[in-house]
Amino acid sequence: MNLNELTIKQISEGYRKQEFLPSDVVSACLEAIRKKDGEIHAFLEVSESAWEEAKQADTQVKNGNALPQLFGVPMALKDNIFAEGTKTTAGSRMLKDYRAPYSATVVQKLKNHGAIIIGKTNMDEFAMGSSTENSAFGPAKNPHDTSRVPGGSSGGSAAAVAAHFVPAALGSDTGGSIRQPASFCGIAGFKPSYGAVSRHGLIAMASSLDQIGPMAKTVKDTEILFRAIAGKDVFDATTAPVDSEVHEKALKDTVFGIPREYMGEGLDPEVEAVIRNAIKKLEQAGAAIKEISLPNSSSALPAYYIIVPSEVSTNLARFESIRYGHRNHEAKTLFETYTKSRSEGFGAEVKRRVMLGTYALSAGYYEAYYVKAQKVRSLIREDFSRAFVAVDYIIGPTTPTPAFHFGAHKDNPLAMYLADVYTVAVNLAGNPSLSLNAGFAEEEGKKLPIGLQVIAPFMKDLALLNTAVKIEDLLKSAI
Ligand code: GLN
Repeated sequence: MNLNELTIKQISEGYRKQEFLPSDVVSACLEAIRKKDGEIHAFLEVSESAWEEAKQADTQVKNGNALPQLFGVPMALKDNIFAEGTKTTAGSRMLKDYRAPYSATVVQKLKNHGAIIIGKTNMDEFAMGSSTENSAFGPAKNPHDTSRVPGGSSGGSAAAVAAHFVPAALGSDTGGSIRQPASFCGIAGFKPSYGAVSRHGLIAMASSLDQIGPMAKTVKDTEILFRAIAGKDVFDATTAPVDSEVHEKALKDTVFGIPREYMGEGLDPEVEAVIRNAIKKLEQAGAAIKEISLPNSSSALPAYYIIVPSEVSTNLARFESIRYGHRNHEAKTLFETYTKSRSEGFGAEVKRRVMLGTYALSAGYYEAYYVKAQKVRSLIREDFSRAFVAVDYIIGPTTPTPAFHFGAHKDNPLAMYLADVYTVAVNLAGNPSLSLNAGFAEEEGKKLPIGLQVIAPFMKDLALLNTAVKIEDLLKSAI
């Protein structure tokens, strides 16, 4: 096995046994990027200092020093996460030349644990999208079939892991942007509980839903990363500690709920077959399976597409070309400077949401749209609370279809929004949720990965990861 194909766990074990050095792993990753990223386009920038850092890390491994768990582990960051001094574009022309003035809390934590950041990954502009086709710098491709999208908006991070450019990456998830690309690329992706991980240093999309989370080759690796980045942060008042008590529970003592609304109309039969097979395996392992209902599921997408554009329109107001962002220098008045700069700097999807949100928040329509959507949000949260009285976890598909072809939803934003039909409700409710690979569908001679979504009660992140590791082991033996 090549060193760039190892998991975090294998890399750390290798260092401890002195089988190889950080510079060996980092150079294997950089070599893979050099060879294949011309085609995949997972990265927007590759670090120039990674190699130097790895060389310095070598000494500590050679000396047999006690090493933190992420020591010498190469990682990639979605390009909306600040790492001091690195270009941070959020996939937008607006921030084409912007450099992060400080490091996000998560980046600081990764560095404290010894990780080596080797680049910034491609994404849909300001994290709006499900395919990376909204990136101002051209899309990333799915390593399983390069005629298909890697998913989005953290598609670059997912493709980088699936193509073995890095063992792991961070993404952000506002409505599915970690889980959906993880599903499309056949890796594990975890969206933590709202507030479990600091958002300080993340370029905001919709602040009441955004969460940073890990994407890796195995669920175990996402757990290692989650433990490293989670926790209360003085720079983010919404952070709180997760429940640290994890009662070890065997699958045979676990009750899984399958939402009726996630298994019906709109679900691709190939995806359904893989999910049903995973459920069967859990049953064979002795787990209890219960059909449940999340009755307000069909209102999740409509509520999401009022609340998110509303928050987007206010968060993106700061990009007016004077304090931040692309500037049109021909403009003659202040108003023209704003309008021309924003027209040139933002892409179509961002403009669509800024306009929708401004409309939904306007004095005359605020009650009818924004307030109503917030009420629906409460109902959705109650759906989950009620379900978790009867079951330990909710499982179902992450996405309704496998990865789609480029251009498939080009002229139809609504069809693109449907890619997140099973993921957005979780963000509205704030619960933790993970996608792990459950198998493959065969299309046009290519094997396309299918993700299983596992949702847990609020702040039960560690218990969820613990159970998801067991599910992954169980399914792996069957794939
Ligand atoms: N695809 C969804 C959207 O466009 C989710 C985005 C996200 O999670 N950042 O809003």
